[in-house]
Amino acid sequence: MTRQSHRIKERRGSSGDCDMLTVSSTSTSSNGALNEPDNNFEAEEHEEARPRKRAKKSSSNEEYQSTGSSTKKMKRRMPENFRKVRGKLGMLERLAKDVPLDVIFEIFCYLDPSDLLRLARTSNDLRGILMSKSSESIWCTTRSNLEGFLPPLPPDLNEPQYAHLLYESHCHVCDRKGRCDTVLWSFRMRCCKRCIVKFPRFYDQKFRASLPSEFEDHEILPKECVYVSQQYRDVGNFQIAARLCAEFEALENPEDRDAWIVRKTQERQTITAHAQQCEAWHQARLNEQTNKLNDIRNQRKKQSSID
Ligand SMILES: [Zn+2]
Repeated sequence: MTRQSHRIKERRGSSGDCDMLTVSSTSTSSNGALNEPDNNFEAEEHEEARPRKRAKKSSSNEEYQSTGSSTKKMKRRMPENFRKVRGKLGMLERLAKDVPLDVIFEIFCYLDPSDLLRLARTSNDLRGILMSKSSESIWCTTRSNLEGFLPPLPPDLNEPQYAHLLYESHCHVCDRKGRCDTVLWSFRMRCCKRCIVKFPRFYDQKFRASLPSEFEDHEILPKECVYVSQQYRDVGNFQIAARLCAEFEALENPEDRDAWIVRKTQERQTITAHAQQCEAWHQARLNEQTNKLNDIRNQRKKQSSID
């Protein structure tokens, strides 16, 4: 604790609305990014015991240039893949290994969730830091840095999963590279125009035939309205339906089944309301990006006409 900054202590003490450590108790994620062992809650002890490692001294075959003034400077051999990358190679790795955790957390508080997602992919050390439960407060703080009203973390997602849904702008079905701005919030995924036709019509008999009769009278299954072939249609999700069916049929007691239906209906209503708020935030963000691009284009046109 002695290595923690006062600012972090104050933030942790006062952030009653960022009750991060209770979040993942309801997380049912498949990715399980934050569903790490409970020893992650002992992060402060780990911070205390965390050795201040030095980056490995570079040998003649390694890329890093020695920083010691007395050591002989070696010419950096930049790998082919990184020739066009700006900045110093390996700085993030050194950050994760050498800098105390509280300082790392302090720096990360100034970023936004999409930055954390990218950072988590840069090295195993940073991934380990950011995907641990002790980092939940960082994700929460970065969400609060965002402009506009972003709904709070929903109970069925953990922080990295929520950030992934908000910012990972590729199709989550086919993983094709390229921007995909259609978010199926109730399904917790993004989907491109090619993949969206694969979802079954919500009221189609093929989709509903295998569902328990109890599902007919209650809104348990998620539904999304999508634009396909120049018309809007309601679609369902086979995978989510199969998962819910399995949960329901695993219950043998009728009372348990009734209680499950009530609980799932309430969860569905919560997710649907949250999805509407997310869509409003998403559309506002897209509009803002469009306006910024238009402003840049107009400035370039003006500049070129002056020239
Ligand atoms: Zn796709």
